[in-house]
Amino acid sequence: MSNTSSSSPPPLVPPVACVCNEQVGAGPFDPRRLRQDFPILALTVHGDKTLAYLDNAATTQKPASVVCVLCEYYQACNANVHRSIHYLGEQATQRFEEARKKIQRFIGAPSERSVIFTRGTTESINVVASAWGRRSLKPGDEIVLTGMEHHSNLVPWQLVAKETGARLKFVPVLDDGTLDLEAYERLLKGRVRMAAFTHISNVLGTVNPVKRMTALAHAAGALVLVDAAQSVPNRPVSVTDLDCDFLAFSGHKMLGPTGIGVLYGRLEVLERMEPFLTGGEMISRVTLEDSTWADLPQKFEAGTPHVSGAIGLGVAVDYLQRVGMETIRDYDERLARYAIGRLEQIPGVRIFGRAPERSGAVSFEVEGVHPHDLAQFIDRDGIAIRAGHLCAQPLMKRLGVPAVSRASVYFYNLEEELDRLAQSILKAKEFFRHGS
Ligand code: PMP
Repeated sequence: MSNTSSSSPPPLVPPVACVCNEQVGAGPFDPRRLRQDFPILALTVHGDKTLAYLDNAATTQKPASVVCVLCEYYQACNANVHRSIHYLGEQATQRFEEARKKIQRFIGAPSERSVIFTRGTTESINVVASAWGRRSLKPGDEIVLTGMEHHSNLVPWQLVAKETGARLKFVPVLDDGTLDLEAYERLLKGRVRMAAFTHISNVLGTVNPVKRMTALAHAAGALVLVDAAQSVPNRPVSVTDLDCDFLAFSGHKMLGPTGIGVLYGRLEVLERMEPFLTGGEMISRVTLEDSTWADLPQKFEAGTPHVSGAIGLGVAVDYLQRVGMETIRDYDERLARYAIGRLEQIPGVRIFGRAPERSGAVSFEVEGVHPHDLAQFIDRDGIAIRAGHLCAQPLMKRLGVPAVSRASVYFYNLEEELDRLAQSILKAKEFFRHGS
C-alpha cells in the first residue's frame, strides 16, 4: 500500500545548515545577479580564463539551491519511498510526491498521476515506443517523425517499427530550418497512429508549431508525442494548451540533476498501456504465477526511483518559476538574435537554422576549420561550445555537413560572452589559415 495519501503528513524536516547563498527572488530580471546563484559560472579554466559556458542545450548548470538540496536530502531525509513506514520514509515520500506536484503545475498537467519520473527524455520516449508501440502497432500502421529529430526520438521508433511491421514517414526540413508543414498534412493522410516530433530543434533552434501539428495529427486519428527536451527549459509549456498525448523532457537541461526526467502522458492513454519495466514498486498483487499493476503513476515507475533527483528537479522548477518562464523565453530569443548577429559578421561563418521563431541553440560552421578543432581552440579561451553531429546524423546529412559547432545559451549568459565567442572564432580562423 502506498503511504502518499496519508491525510496529515508530518512536517518537513528543517533544512540542514547550508553553504548556499542564493540571491534570486522577486525583482527585475538581472542575469548578472542570477549568475551569483551558480557557483560554477565563476570558475576560471585553463589558468586564468573566466568560463563562458555556452553548451546549455547539452546540459545546464545548477543553482546552489539545487546542489544544496541534494546534500540536504542525503543528510536529513534519505529513505526509500512509498514503502518504509517510518519517519524518514514518510519525509522522503512526501518530498518526492511534492516534487511531482510541482512538475504537474509547471507543465499544466491535469493530474499528478500523469507525471511519470524517468531518467530523462530518452527513457521517456522509449517508454512510449515500447509500452505503447509494441502492443498497439500493426503491420502497415504508420509513425510520422520529422527530419530534425534527435536520435532519442528516432531510434526507439525504428526499433518498434521493425518489430511490429509499422512504417516510418518523415516530414522534410526546409532550407530555412522549418518543417514542411504541407508535406506533414499529406503524410497524415495514411494509416498514421503516432506523430512524434521535437518542439525545439537542438541543432537548428527552430521552434515548431507543435500545437497546430498536434491538432492536425489528432484530426487524422493519431496520438502525439512531443519531445520537449529543448522547450520545457526555455519557455512556458502547457500540456493542456498543446493537447499532446505525451511530453518528454530532461531535468538536467533545466537546472535539475542528471538522471531524472519526466514523461507526461494523457491519463486515458496511460491507463490503457501495459508497463515498460516491471518489478518492485509497480505492482498491486503478485502471486508466483501472475501479477497485477499498481495505479498510475507507479505502474511506470518500477524499482527504487531517483528520489533526490526528483526533489532536486522540484527545486529547479521553483527557481525557474521565480525567474519566470516568459522572461526566460524572451531573453533566450534576444541572446539568439545577438549571437546570430555577431556570428554573421565573421566572413566564412555559415549559420544553420533561420526559422522566424527560434531559440538560443545556434549551430554554425566556419569555413576551413573542422568543428572539433574549433571547439578545442575556443576552449583554450575558456569558452565551452559543442561540436559534432549533435545526435542528429540524419539532419547533418540534410545540411550536407558531417558535423557542426553549436553555441547554446541560457538565462545566465551575457552578451559579452557571445562577444568573446566571436573574437575567439576570429582568432581560430587566423590560426587555422596559417595551418598550425
Ligand atoms: N531530444 C532533444 C531535442 C535533445 O536535445 C536531447 C538532448 N540533447 C534529447 C532528446 C535527449 O535527452 P537526454 O539525453 O537527456 O535523454
